[in-house]
Parts: sequence; C-alpha cells; structure tokens
Amino acid sequence: MIQDCIFCKIIQKQLPAKIIAENDEVIVIQDIAPKAPIHYLIIPKKHIQDVQSIEQEDKGLVGSLFLMAKELSGKIAGSGSFRLIVNNGADAGQSVFHVHSHFLSGKKMLDF
Ligand code: 5GP
Ligand code: ZN
Repeated sequence: MIQDCIFCKIIQKQLPAKIIAENDEVIVIQDIAPKAPIHYLIIPKKHIQDVQSIEQEDKGLVGSLFLMAKELSGKIAGSGSFRLIVNNGADAGQSVFHVHSHFLSGKKMLDF
C-alpha cells in the first residue's frame, strides 16, 4: 500500500469503484472514463509502479493478469475479442503509476 496511490486506495476499499472481479492477486474495476463499451482495469494488488519495476518474484503476478483477461473474456458477450493495453511511462500515456492493464471490448478496434 502506497500512500496517495488511487489504485492502492481502491484495493483497500478506501475509495469506491465498480468491482468486476477480484482474487488474491488482482482486482478488476470499471474504468471511470471508459473508452469502449467495456473498459476494465486489471490491477495487481501489489503496488508496482511500472513495467520496469517488475521483479523476477512477480512472474506469477504477471501471469495472473493474463489469466484474469482470459476469465473476463468468458463473461463478455459477442466474439470474445478484446484488447489488452499497458500504457507504460508518462510519455506513453500512463497517468496512474500503479501498473495495470486496460481490458477493452464491445466495439471494433481496427485502428491502432
Ligand atoms: P493510464 O492512463 O495510467 O494508462 O490508466 C489509468 C486509468 O485509470 C484511466 O483510464 C483513468 O480513466 C482511470 N482512472 C483514474 N482514476 C480512476 C478512479 O478513481 N477510478 C477508476 N475506476 N478509474 C480511474
Ligand atoms: Zn498502488
């Protein structure tokens, strides 16, 4: 838990969020400003600032993010297509410095 980290506060239930799924390692919430009909954030419960801060010991956690994406894909209507996006670093659009993956679905996303 890092003071002043929005996602840590959501994980600790100190800030409200629409929780889509949760297990021991990750939490999935609805993005507050959705960019697609389905826009979830898959967030590890451990505070890791960014991809460069991931350590060997976090390997299982990284796998848990993908396994959660698989779980979510089974719950969404339609083709099961989705995008997983990680904005890493301010210049790539990262605005919350607690590593997370965007799970986007529900519309055609053919542009990059
Ligand atoms: P980033 O810009 O770091 O890749 O993604 C951060 C995401 O978190 C953004 O899409 C933003 O809309 C979302 N976000 C920021 N603050 C909150 C919040 O308090 N609650 C929720 N549910 N999402 C948030
Ligand atoms: Zn955090």
